[in-house]
Amino acid sequence: MKSPIDPNIIPLDQKYRDEFLGVLAHELRNPLAPLRNGLEIIRRSQSDPKIVHEALEVMDRQLQQLSGLIDGLVEASNLRQGLVELKVETLNIGSIIEESVKSIGARLAEGGPKLIFTPLAEPLLVEGDPKRIRQILVNLIENAVKYTGRDGCIEVDAHGESGEVEISVKDDGIGIPQEKLGEIFELFSKADHSLERGQDGLGLGLSIVRGLVELHGGSVEAHSVGPGAGSQFIVRLPQATSGVDSPRISEKRRVLVVDDNRDCASSLAMMLGIMGFETETAADGVEALRTAAAYRPDAIFLDIAMPKLNGYDVCKVIREQAWGKDPVVIALTGWGQNDDIERSREAGFDHHLVKPIELASLEPIVREIKAVHSA
Ligand code: ADP
Repeated sequence: MKSPIDPNIIPLDQKYRDEFLGVLAHELRNPLAPLRNGLEIIRRSQSDPKIVHEALEVMDRQLQQLSGLIDGLVEASNLRQGLVELKVETLNIGSIIEESVKSIGARLAEGGPKLIFTPLAEPLLVEGDPKRIRQILVNLIENAVKYTGRDGCIEVDAHGESGEVEISVKDDGIGIPQEKLGEIFELFSKADHSLERGQDGLGLGLSIVRGLVELHGGSVEAHSVGPGAGSQFIVRLPQATSGVDSPRISEKRRVLVVDDNRDCASSLAMMLGIMGFETETAADGVEALRTAAAYRPDAIFLDIAMPKLNGYDVCKVIREQAWGKDPVVIALTGWGQNDDIERSREAGFDHHLVKPIELASLEPIVREIKAVHSA
């Protein structure tokens, strides 16, 4: 999908352009001093590896900062020129929010505002580019973190509303003055330029967010009662009605998760539950066969190394059953060499996943699961 953004939607206002040149010069110059200092330190202290190492670390951080600024500029420019192409697929927005919250939460582990997202009870589907939807969410959540104190709280939430998926990122941070609410999505705009704020950034993020949301046929708005009262950003995206390759609540696919490590089994089952599947678990090969025969799952995640009966043998027996030909069977193992993959293929597995299982490797497989069980 490629659709140029009407330049009128994001007017490059003269006022912002003039301010932007000042801010850009400032932001580009900021990393230069530590970079220059780092070079000088290395030149003078080559014999002290500890000092050289510290200087290199500082330079690395500053270079990352500069590259981030330049990436943002290129992205904003590409959006304005309609050069951003979306790779659209049917997505469960709950999974993408969860991933984004987890990745930011992991970085916040050392302290920072509390980040809350309650997994959705039902899948909420949109047609979107997963990379871009993640970028929208990460941008809004990172802004919330940036403008909320360490003791603050950020809540991310999503629900379906009149054919739309509504995603909210709400914080109890510094808030936004009423008169600035309409402007902050403009390219280069910043709500507060005072020195006390001392926050970095070119004012590109929200204009990129709006550009990407609109490319998806959606809209974004900001709310705040005013300074000190926190902010809320609401993204609305058209809700997908026919998630042909995604699980729908009305015809839940059944998945059996087999692992002798009960925590591994139950956490994977929980993740699949969030994605909209009905799940059962089993803790060894014999129990797996018994449960599968009664439950008739549409997919089986099967650990290989298990007591009583290993995963290869379980899979072979399942494939010999009349009901066992169609389910998608996925090997879960610590081994990912070609020989291991070949061995699981010969045993009748459709996929081979190496633990720990990443959400990213799970999603394409999950989309393959069709309801094959007899109701
Ligand atoms: P940047 O953060 O780089 O300045 P953005 O486009 O992401 O640029 O945001 C524009 C402005 O909107 C910010 O400068 C800030 O003043 C305001 N803003 C964005 N998100 C928040 C938030 N969660 N709380 C308060 N102000 C915000």
